[in-house]
Amino acid sequence: MAIDLVLRREWNARAPRGDYTQLDSTKGVKVHYTGGRVDEAIVSDHARCVALVRSIQAYHMDGNGWIDIGYSYVACPHRKVFEGRGLHHLPAANGPGLNAGHYAVLGLVGNAGLVRPPDGVLHAIVDAIEFVRRNGSAGKEIKGHRDGYATDCPGEPLYAWVRRGAPRPAGGDEGGGPPAAPPFPGRLLGYPPVMHGEDVLTWQSQMRRRGWELDVDGAYGPQSRDVCRRFQRQQGVTADGIVGPITWRLTWEG
Ligand SMILES: [Zn+2]
Ligand SMILES: [Zn+2]
Repeated sequence: MAIDLVLRREWNARAPRGDYTQLDSTKGVKVHYTGGRVDEAIVSDHARCVALVRSIQAYHMDGNGWIDIGYSYVACPHRKVFEGRGLHHLPAANGPGLNAGHYAVLGLVGNAGLVRPPDGVLHAIVDAIEFVRRNGSAGKEIKGHRDGYATDCPGEPLYAWVRRGAPRPAGGDEGGGPPAAPPFPGRLLGYPPVMHGEDVLTWQSQMRRRGWELDVDGAYGPQSRDVCRRFQRQQGVTADGIVGPITWRLTWEG
């Protein structure tokens, strides 16, 4: 199964307060937990996951004074992966001097309430790890926050799992193949001039889910065109930078 990304606009993330520090590559990933109480009610209500991630971002920005949520990605019990700082951006959660070494992935469990990670959290953490390896130049290491830093994070259950190599839980990864493309919107997306619309937003969102770095803003400008060209080259079709029916279909099925 492909990663089920919750894009920043989908969890209503606040915009970062400043520019991220560019991260070319990392040795791998460090796994975290919240460190506090996590209400077990999140397991049956994804809306509570969204609220929790928003509150973590608020705490990191308003409490810690960071420019954004400190994590690269956040894994929830519904096997969804929230986009935090994302690919090629320095996280803040690993501790001073340790952020450039690893992406930071939070599992939504704590030291009270929801302590044992549900299978969905473990799958989602592995989904995030595979995603940053494939798209973010992450290396093979999988470590816990406590490796090299004085903290009990990511808690005993997650740390024991990390030490075992972060295996996927048995079952539940049947795959299922790529999703089918939605119907072609009926107009060619190209630049210039800048085109706006829901169809642009849909295309940009799916490209971002695939790991392409572009703004998901519903405006097809030079950045979208350039990403489109690179994608078309990768797919072996004419690199004209225009999203027509073939490129549209390949965006989901290619
Ligand atoms: Zn941590
Ligand atoms: Zn959830």
